[in-house]
Amino acid sequence: MATKEFPLDPQTVPAVQTAYRTIRTKIPVPQSIEKLQRLHDLEPRSMAGQPPVIWAGGEGATVRDPYGNRWLDFSSGVLVTSVGHGRPEVVKAIQDTAAQGLYHAYCFPTDVRLRLVETLTDLLPAPLKRVFLLTTGSEACECCIKLARTWGMKVAGKSKKVLVTFDNAFHGRTLGSQLAGGAPGLKTWIGDLDPAFVQVPFPDGFRQKDVSFDVFEAALARQGVDPADVCGVMSETYQGCNAKLMPAEYAQALRAWCDKHNAVLIFDEVQAGFGRTGKPFGFMHYGITPDLIACGKGISGGMPLSAVAGTEKLMNLYGPGEMTSTHSANPICSAAALANIRVILDEGLIEHAAALEPVLVDGCRRIAAAAGGKVGRWDVTGLVGALQFARPGTTTPDSDLAWKMVLRAIQSGVMLFAPVGVGGCAIKINPPLIITEDALQEGLDVLEKIAAEV
Ligand code: PMP
Repeated sequence: MATKEFPLDPQTVPAVQTAYRTIRTKIPVPQSIEKLQRLHDLEPRSMAGQPPVIWAGGEGATVRDPYGNRWLDFSSGVLVTSVGHGRPEVVKAIQDTAAQGLYHAYCFPTDVRLRLVETLTDLLPAPLKRVFLLTTGSEACECCIKLARTWGMKVAGKSKKVLVTFDNAFHGRTLGSQLAGGAPGLKTWIGDLDPAFVQVPFPDGFRQKDVSFDVFEAALARQGVDPADVCGVMSETYQGCNAKLMPAEYAQALRAWCDKHNAVLIFDEVQAGFGRTGKPFGFMHYGITPDLIACGKGISGGMPLSAVAGTEKLMNLYGPGEMTSTHSANPICSAAALANIRVILDEGLIEHAAALEPVLVDGCRRIAAAAGGKVGRWDVTGLVGALQFARPGTTTPDSDLAWKMVLRAIQSGVMLFAPVGVGGCAIKINPPLIITEDALQEGLDVLEKIAAEV
């Protein structure tokens, strides 16, 4: 996502000391520069996209470095640590499973795998009653693409292989997930694109003003796609770059269109799932049920685990041993996911995310006002917000300003990840779901002040 690097020159910044934030050194920390430089020397440049802070651990909605600084975490890593950092229940699940000597089991059955698929199928409505556990979000999206295409070509007819996705969509960084992605700049390396991957405008109301479903059908017709050849349609439930759901009527029309044309409807819930939007799954805002979903990130609270859930017809397309992965349902990751989901449910974190939405809305409104016309668009859904910086009065991305905001936030004790989305112009606010209203307000006040300054 990131396209630039943050500078490695330590800046003197005002000291900060509150209940959630401590900044007591220059930022970046002078003693950290050698280590950061070593990483720069030994890794691909792609790994140098995040703010130059060495993470040493965290508690709840805060993360700390080894030098006595502490940040209020508005990143959740990258929308992962929903129940907070260092969460005792998750730590214990990891420790207990490791102590049992069970840290790998390939696809041999385990008790923890059974408990996790039971928990997940209990959370999901019919007909999403089969779950396949994997490791990364990209892998889960790839699996959905494969199932839709397999079904289309094998069951519904040889030519039924077109997968429709959306402009500016992000589904991961592997070949299939990038073919399905909607940022042309991310797929130039592929060279010859598969014509069976087709994109249409996402109804975001900003870059795509007309949010009616007519646009979907017109975009397919313009690209010469016969609906009969479409095996599936996949969309992030909300687009990661703008935190905005599609209009419910649009999603309902999409469901009806898929039913009419015998196409699989897939929602990528990698960001939206497990309470982030104030509902258990983002698609529940739409009053429809897709045929497949891809999950990741917030499913586990931190450990690498992802999942595909789907209908019997799709999930059983492959025979025993034909759809597996070395680390499917890793026992430690599965135990962590169970503990994470238990906390989300027991502490009412989904309802909490919904209850804090107005606070985040108010905060984003204040930040946009303070930025004086330089926020082209902001959106909030549950506990995820995105502010897109743009040249005043246009949709032209202003990434310089977005990057400056992130750097200043880091210097002020609020953790944000690097800007994302079109032209790297959007900053995302997505704290752990356990954040208190007080802590959320404090971070939003900091960002409002910075917005006025930059
Ligand atoms: N889908 C969405 C909506 C995502 O946000 C991401 C990650 N940012 C992915 C898929 C890919 O997940 P991973 O990085 O775990 O492969």
